[in-house]
Amino acid sequence: MTDHSPQTQVSRWPLHTRILAGLVLGAILGISANQFLGGDHGGLQWTMANLTEPAGQLFLRLLLMVVVPLVFSSLVCGVAGIGDFRRLGRVGIKSFTYCLGISLISVGIGIGLVNIVQPGKRIPAETSQALQERYGKDASQRISVAQQSKSDDAPLLQLIKTLVPANPISAVATDSVNLLHLMFFALILGAAAAAIPGGKAGPFLAALEGLASVCARVIDWIMRLAPYAVACLVFNNLARFGLDLLQALFWYVFVVLVGLALHMFGVYSLALRFLARRDPVDFFRRVRSVIITAFSTSSSVATLPTTLRVSEEQLGVPKEINSFVLTVGATANQNGTALYEGVTVLFLAQLAGLDLSLSQQLSVAGMAILGSVGTAGLPSASIPFVVVVISSIGINPALIAIVLGVDRILDMCRTVVNVVGDMTAAVFVAREESR
Ligand code: ASP
Repeated sequence: MTDHSPQTQVSRWPLHTRILAGLVLGAILGISANQFLGGDHGGLQWTMANLTEPAGQLFLRLLLMVVVPLVFSSLVCGVAGIGDFRRLGRVGIKSFTYCLGISLISVGIGIGLVNIVQPGKRIPAETSQALQERYGKDASQRISVAQQSKSDDAPLLQLIKTLVPANPISAVATDSVNLLHLMFFALILGAAAAAIPGGKAGPFLAALEGLASVCARVIDWIMRLAPYAVACLVFNNLARFGLDLLQALFWYVFVVLVGLALHMFGVYSLALRFLARRDPVDFFRRVRSVIITAFSTSSSVATLPTTLRVSEEQLGVPKEINSFVLTVGATANQNGTALYEGVTVLFLAQLAGLDLSLSQQLSVAGMAILGSVGTAGLPSASIPFVVVVISSIGINPALIAIVLGVDRILDMCRTVVNVVGDMTAAVFVAREESR
């Protein structure tokens, strides 16, 4: 990617090279600290608590701070820009069909690999016991959060409540913003603005265009912090991460990572080549700053400002298609998450000695796809979903403790697959619309 704006040309290196350098430095320092000092070392804990954690969180929160105004203004303008209902419907149906097809493939890859490798049957009982003791406390906190979010409503009512806000202000007036609600509201406002004849909605749309440009400038400023913040975020994750866990959970981590890699480089490359008619190598080169941002923030939503910009500037996707496909995709299209959720549920079932029939596995696949739509694009947002599903199929939810220690590293990788998937959808829809 070229640099974000003239304002960011403060160094001889372009921004994406500096961010990559930050990532590599953070990774080397994090792994070395973990190996030589140990994750519990006093000085290391102090450094993380007082320096690297606040610096990383500052960057993450600044990015999240612009998400609500950015999503709202770009989605309303994007939908209004798409114009008539027929075109909007066409874009919606194409995006939906593409995303559903690709998600089905991702879950299929995950479930196929779990059945071939059988990672849950390769863990010695004492390792599983030790992991449950080590992460038991963290697990019970997550289980109580997941149980609070469970609802007794019938599926249709649940769907309506998931999508339609009773009050759009309350959807955003909390730290855990309900982006699906915000998007639904923005979609309706955009469609209504397009339907008003005689340019009467003009001032409203002009104000929102202005808001989107102001957000873009704020993002330029925030991205100047990216090289340092990315180093801190990656350092924290790796310094705290028990590398020993990679050995203990080797086959599980192997299945998730191989599945994500096959999907990212195999399925996306084929989709790019044959559906979007793009050169995959050139595509991956152009989106590298999105990949690095997703990897270090573990959040599709925090990456969204970068995703929107790169898709427009580097991939040439029209603004109105980006605003629709990428903003909705950031929460609703998460291929990496669907794959991860399917694999994790089946892995824990194998570990619990539960032999799931083919139809039970297919229902887990369906739940993983729906779950990925409902999973917020935030760090570790999959965990509550996995807790709810495993308890619904009769597995002790406390088993979630086993995967918590490796969740962050897997989250970094699945978030990359999630955002790159949104971008492949955007280039596919843009090509279809230009024909
Ligand atoms: N961190 C992921 C994302 O933001 C969601 C997840 O936990 O799977 O896309």
